[in-house]
Amino acid sequence: MTTPTCGACRGACCELLVQVVREGSSSADYFDWARTRALAVLEGDQMVFQATCPLQTSHGLCAIYEDRPKACADFPPGHPLCLASIRLRRPSYAEELKL
Ligand code: SF4
Ligand code: SF4
Repeated sequence: MTTPTCGACRGACCELLVQVVREGSSSADYFDWARTRALAVLEGDQMVFQATCPLQTSHGLCAIYEDRPKACADFPPGHPLCLASIRLRRPSYAEELKL
């Protein structure tokens, strides 16, 4: 597998929100609601929702890259969540990378 680059990917991860929804921590109804609306369930309770960041530019880049939140900076290309984002939002790039 070739490591992805953000320039080629154009911000797949900036179009998604990963939320941990723990059954029992809120109502079971909410867990069911989340499961039916998630684009994907990564690992049991990690659910991926479509949610484009308002700071993503039309070119898929980050408008505040130098000052982006730590949560974004701590999420490097090749991270499992990066790869999951590419599979969901950039299938042709995922194919190119043989993900
Ligand atoms: S971290 Fe991964 S998913 Fe996010 S823009 Fe970079 S290559 Fe794409
Ligand atoms: S702040 Fe920047 S890096 Fe973070 S999700 Fe938004 S566009 Fe992406």
